[in-house]
Amino acid sequence: MHHFQYQNNALYCEDVPVADIAANLGTPLFIYSHATLTRHFQAFDKAFGDVDHIICYSAKANTNGAILKMFADMGTGLDVVSGGELHRGLKAGIPANKIAYAGVGKTQDEIDLALNSGILMFNVESFEELQAINARAKALGKKAPISLRVNPNVDAKTHPYISTGMKKNKFGIAKEAVVEAYKAAHELDSTEVVGIDFHIGSQITQVGPFVEAMESVKSLAAELKGMGIGINYLDVGGGLGINYDDEEPPEPDEYAKAICKVIADFPITVVLEPGRAMVGNAGIMVTRFLYLKEGATKNFIIVDAGMNDLIRPSIYGAFHLIQPVNKREGDPLTGDVVGPICESTDFLAKDREIGAVVPGDLLAVMSAGAYGFAMSSNYNSRPRACEVMVKGNAFEVIRQRENYEDLTRGEVIPTFL
Ligand SMILES: *Cc1c(COP(=O)(O)O)cnc(C)c1O
Repeated sequence: MHHFQYQNNALYCEDVPVADIAANLGTPLFIYSHATLTRHFQAFDKAFGDVDHIICYSAKANTNGAILKMFADMGTGLDVVSGGELHRGLKAGIPANKIAYAGVGKTQDEIDLALNSGILMFNVESFEELQAINARAKALGKKAPISLRVNPNVDAKTHPYISTGMKKNKFGIAKEAVVEAYKAAHELDSTEVVGIDFHIGSQITQVGPFVEAMESVKSLAAELKGMGIGINYLDVGGGLGINYDDEEPPEPDEYAKAICKVIADFPITVVLEPGRAMVGNAGIMVTRFLYLKEGATKNFIIVDAGMNDLIRPSIYGAFHLIQPVNKREGDPLTGDVVGPICESTDFLAKDREIGAVVPGDLLAVMSAGAYGFAMSSNYNSRPRACEVMVKGNAFEVIRQRENYEDLTRGEVIPTFL
């Protein structure tokens, strides 16, 4: 459920016509719904009810400071994968002791920042990283709280590029090697084992893979307990899918039930890292239809947003529903929706019927709240889009559109030129 609905053939975000926002701020434009973001947080929080849990929203899905502040105010923690995300989280008011830090390539500076901030835990992705964290903690006179990220070798049944929990993936420590790694971690003097972590992939649309991973990790937790290694947190990662097209992903309720069932007899705090499910359907991208180019074999619906604004179709072949902001009478148009970037992979949709539209019309690219702006770039020297948050009948810019000056900021001409 989200708050982007038509009233008399005009698309609204909550109580504001999307066309009004575009008229004010231009396109391309990302619009997020406050009510939808709130609702998604509450759905997760309620689903886990009385079970001890911490929702660590996965920052990388959408790192805008206003969204992070909203989540901070609602009491979420954060899942970060870089020093930059940690910095953003702290700046937005997320308490350090609710921040989990994952990622295979943590640098010394990033480890130091996390140690000095006092984060909840490092989700450690290799034996080598474990040694590095221990060494930095020792140097700083601290004890590093750690979980090891287990690679449970579970097929998440999603796109191969967003599958992370199989042997062939770079993430986590193989199931077969993880007990040894835990023993080593337990013996290091500047780390403290606090939990177990896994994250098997993204846009997962069934509960089966989660349950499979949970069961494998639960038996590991029992084994570790038997060895005198305490496990307080079970971090189940993120990955719950959303509805882009005709998927029917489990609701947070069904997901929570499946997870809680596995650990019903196991006292532990569950850490959740939802990203896409929190923000995906809470945002849209608005773009303007510039030209209709009738090619030899198909129509090209050329719009003013490109792969630099929303790269998911280009890199994952991802589907985003595209619809007119204001519906009009007439024959629906079918074609490839493409942007202005000089790449053949610059498309938002292929062979898609998008309703009756004519050049000049606004189009809404739905479900663009996650991995949309966060993955945007300046490729082709295109200033990045504006971001807006709507609450009720009010809207405010939460990130200004970049201008041409922004494009060259930080560039330096060397003295020898
Ligand atoms: C990306 C990521 C998530 C969030 O994944 P979603 O599919 O957006 O829920 C959670 N945890 C880790 C470690 C991640 O890398």
